[in-house]
Amino acid sequence: MPTLHLLGTGAAISDAHRTTTMLAVSDDHSPPRTLVVDCGGDVLQRLQACGRPIDSVDGLIITHAHMDHTSGFPLLMEKVWLDGRDRALPVVGIEPALAQAKRLWDAYEPVHVDWDGIPAIDWRVVPHEPDAPFWTHPPWTITAAPVDHGDTPNVGLRIEHAPTGRVLAYSCDTTPAKSVVDLASTADTLVHEANGGPTENHSTAVGAAEVARKADVDRLLLVHLPPGDKSNQLREARAIFPHTDLGDELGSYSF
Ligand SMILES: [Zn+2]
Repeated sequence: MPTLHLLGTGAAISDAHRTTTMLAVSDDHSPPRTLVVDCGGDVLQRLQACGRPIDSVDGLIITHAHMDHTSGFPLLMEKVWLDGRDRALPVVGIEPALAQAKRLWDAYEPVHVDWDGIPAIDWRVVPHEPDAPFWTHPPWTITAAPVDHGDTPNVGLRIEHAPTGRVLAYSCDTTPAKSVVDLASTADTLVHEANGGPTENHSTAVGAAEVARKADVDRLLLVHLPPGDKSNQLREARAIFPHTDLGDELGSYSF
């Protein structure tokens, strides 16, 4: 079965036990294979905490340029190098997101210029448009579409596990968006942000629930959570879409 790992479920600042929102998908294949989405923190430590080895990473998708989605990229590169990776690391995203990651890596050039055997970075720029093909290598078929995150170009994802046809959708950071309804249509699980209100270029839990209901998904998991008690928001969201939960930090979910 395909599995979603919630490597982080917080907003840029959140509860003490939640780091920035990052996720990964895997399945039962041997040797293990994992795709990671975003790196706004020590993403490989979180991956290990979910029981996934560093060398299982087939690729990294970066959604947008904000710090809480990109800032851990140089540390990720240090770790895959120390871990002995010799194959290139595919890094996939729209141009502004990859340009930010590249600037971060280049900023450390005085440090890593003499390192032997750093794995090559296979930058894969994908157009910022609906139905953009983000990943076509088995077992995943991933398409993306622009979402509404203010002035910052950003994408949501539709991740299909080809062998089973199971579908996971991820809103990333956005106000409630028609493009996410389309991406998430009849998905098994929708991971949607619930950071706050549209005036902040984000969604409320209620806004996420309305997207889930329109998309006719089976389950909604809320992420990108602000600090503090969220019981009221969860209750309001469940009134609109009953199968809603707060994402568990380091939770793994079959989808
Ligand atoms: Zn953002």
